[in-house]
Amino acid sequence: MAIHLLEAMSREGFEEVVALHDRRSGLRAFLAIHDSTQGPAFGGLRRWSYLDEDQALRDCLRLSRSMTYKCALADLPAGGAKLVILDRPELDLAAAYRAIGAFIERFDGRFRAGPDVGTDAEELAWVAEQTRFVARPDADGPGLLAESTCAGVFAGIAACLRHLDGEEDWRRRTIVVQGLGAIGRGLARLLLQSGAKVRASELDPEKAERVARDLELELVDPASEYDQTCDVFAPCAMGGILHDLTLTRLRCRIVAGGANNVLVRSLHGERLHERGVLYAPDFAINSGALIRGALFHLEGRREGVERIGARIGEVLGGILARARAQDLAPVRVAVDEAAARIARWRGQSDPKA
Ligand code: NAD
Repeated sequence: MAIHLLEAMSREGFEEVVALHDRRSGLRAFLAIHDSTQGPAFGGLRRWSYLDEDQALRDCLRLSRSMTYKCALADLPAGGAKLVILDRPELDLAAAYRAIGAFIERFDGRFRAGPDVGTDAEELAWVAEQTRFVARPDADGPGLLAESTCAGVFAGIAACLRHLDGEEDWRRRTIVVQGLGAIGRGLARLLLQSGAKVRASELDPEKAERVARDLELELVDPASEYDQTCDVFAPCAMGGILHDLTLTRLRCRIVAGGANNVLVRSLHGERLHERGVLYAPDFAINSGALIRGALFHLEGRREGVERIGARIGEVLGGILARARAQDLAPVRVAVDEAAARIARWRGQSDPKA
């Protein structure tokens, strides 16, 4: 179904959505700024082969809004944005990222960009040639962004285990990680170092073999990860993976990972709760890179990765405790808390984030 953009913007409280086309590079992209009432809107640059522009726009809107939720829960004086690039073979990458840099500069700091799927150090360096408002990948940038996300997810998993069992007891745990990119790989390493057993799936066979060899972890076929009996399923690939068909297959007690927008709809969080699976809301657990990047840009300091992890574990622990006390799905509690804070920023009495 085609998206009714203005309707969606007004329903979800978006400030601005821009479609971007650059003739020279073939760039086609969308930028959504969800909120900049408290401070700059932070968001990554995602490059992906979307089926069509409707799918890209939907992804952009959802990711942008969840960045605001992350800022609200992490208590950062900042808001959320996202820029998605429609990847195509004919795209001139260097020219496209430079065009994005010039575009970002026009916002004069209201939008600040960082890495995301498809955008890493090389691409960020092209952007940084044209704008100050990007997380530089070199020594002048915040550094350790993926590491900060991994530390947060690891601490979040620990908080979930303590919530259910009173202790982490890593040696007794099996964790299934979906995706062995920057986050899945880093998380798997932390888990293995703690003594947990890790199984992982990865779509790219060459990457799968390489990481499995380096980390000495066991691989499972992509798409069979949902059926694995384990303590924790950690989605660290793309979003939109938990829906009516996949969530009935889960054989885990906890879902907690780095991927954004894991649930197709938030009602799937309620379904998991009904089935007795603890779901750690993605925007509560995967905000490590945002915290590191935002504090660097706003306060000029590099927050320690372990402190970031501790902060995320504490926030998530609080959400889980309140969810238990109210017998609600944690995602419901997290959405309500984020929406209430955003409404306060906007001077609204009725939370409508
Ligand atoms: P990445 O591109 O480095 O890695 C993603 C990996 O997942 C790739 O290796 C890809 O081949 C694999 N993959 C894709 N679909 C898969 C599937 N169905 N099954 C198995 N493997 C699959 O990206 P990343 O930086 O590791 O990010 C992973 C997720 O975490 C994304 O959803 C991203 O938005 C989210 N996230 C990342 C950060 C960060 O700091 N990098 C911060 C917050 C959230």
